[in-house]
Amino acid sequence: MSSDTAALVRAHVSGDRTAVETAEESIAAAEAHAELGAFLSIDRERALERAAALGDALASGTEPGPLHGVPIAFKANMCREGVETNCGSKILAGYRAPYTATAVQRMLTAGCVPIGTTNMDEFAMGSSGENSAYFPARNPWAHERIPGGSSSGSAAAVAAGIVPLALGSDTGGSVRQPAALCGISGFKPTYGRVSRYGLVAFGSSLDQISPLARSAQDLELAMLVLSGSDPLDSTCLDLGPVQPEPEGSLAGLKLGVPREAFADGLDEGVRIRLEEAIAQLCELGAERVDVSLPHARLAVPTYYVVATAEASSNLARYDGVRYGPRVDGDGTLDGMISATREAGFGAEVKRRILLGTYVLSSGYYEAWYGRAQRVRAKILADYRTAFEACDLLVGPTSPTPAFRLGERSEDPVAMYLSDVLTAPVSLAGLPAVSVPAGFVEDAGETLPVGMQITGPALSDARVLSTARAWQAATDHHLARPGTFAERAEA
Ligand code: GLN
Repeated sequence: MSSDTAALVRAHVSGDRTAVETAEESIAAAEAHAELGAFLSIDRERALERAAALGDALASGTEPGPLHGVPIAFKANMCREGVETNCGSKILAGYRAPYTATAVQRMLTAGCVPIGTTNMDEFAMGSSGENSAYFPARNPWAHERIPGGSSSGSAAAVAAGIVPLALGSDTGGSVRQPAALCGISGFKPTYGRVSRYGLVAFGSSLDQISPLARSAQDLELAMLVLSGSDPLDSTCLDLGPVQPEPEGSLAGLKLGVPREAFADGLDEGVRIRLEEAIAQLCELGAERVDVSLPHARLAVPTYYVVATAEASSNLARYDGVRYGPRVDGDGTLDGMISATREAGFGAEVKRRILLGTYVLSSGYYEAWYGRAQRVRAKILADYRTAFEACDLLVGPTSPTPAFRLGERSEDPVAMYLSDVLTAPVSLAGLPAVSVPAGFVEDAGETLPVGMQITGPALSDARVLSTARAWQAATDHHLARPGTFAERAEA
């Protein structure tokens, strides 16, 4: 069992170390790993000020929060008052949020110290981090490879040991997939468990703020703080926070293995690791049940209709009037809007706005958007049927380990297929965690493999306690980038 954050909080509260020392170390680590491109900005002054204030409050007898002095990194699409929230896009360059997102505020109130804003695919559109308008982030396990996306910087920062905890957002897999490729744990809650107030919208019916950490236990601690109703977000469920289950046990758990998750296109090394992991889960007391999700193969096209439709509407607000830089163009209002959007959005964002506008246009709406909504309902129905035969589903998170920078950037469809195992869960709104399940060797490099555990709606606590039980019995999540190379040298 391991909790980086609980150990830190204990050390701060007992006086073994101060929150300022921890913040200093975290910032030094971020600077030492600058080549990872994990951060769009590091907030040294604010972080140290905040850490000092936490120390003062503790000294004057204020009850410490559950995450007292824990350094955290926020993805650049979460508003924090006064801090640049550019979503990895040029169209929001220099935009400082006038208010703070609910999820961010809850982490701050619990005592977290934000050390910076993390790199991401522009507007969270991507699976590799290469769509960042600034620079791509890199995988701490293999620097010529992608860390996954779109929460690339948050995953790289946790994997490199810069912060023990980070927030990302997951619309079609953007927290689970980078967690898998970076060898850490990432959890997408049931849609509506975490407030989206202050999260810059991409696909509103899919987006969920989601934590990344090195252990399931830390994800549980984060969820306890993050989740719960919020009057500022009408899609946030009127439920209390996700309470960690007292004991995670695998005994008697019926684990469904969807046939489709092991279909063609799955990397052989990933398949072998997952088969081993499932066998081990059974040795630990779980029972394997083979199930089928017949419509899962339609999830990627369905996701790319629904998500782009919602994105085209959500991104209409970036018109050069209300946010960010403005390009005057020919001096007319229309000319200014076109010139601003032409200069401000990157190629992938434009592609999605075009696609989304098309699928919503009159005459095509029923054929594309309407049909995608009907397939989405069938995907959800498949999960309902599967969960009649099992408690949770288990399979790979990503069909391949981390690929090389540039390998898929010229081929959008190859990039979209990275989401084949995570998108169905998002369309169904279900909770799912990705946890480390071992490593594969590729071209002389050791790369992490992730296992996705998915549960029925609102089974967040069960999904996380199962991940905790897996980590209590295994040590994949304890491996750090570099350890294998070091071992080889030893
Ligand atoms: N990779 C997917 C996409 O490009 C998912 C992104 C996300 O979850 N934000 O849309």
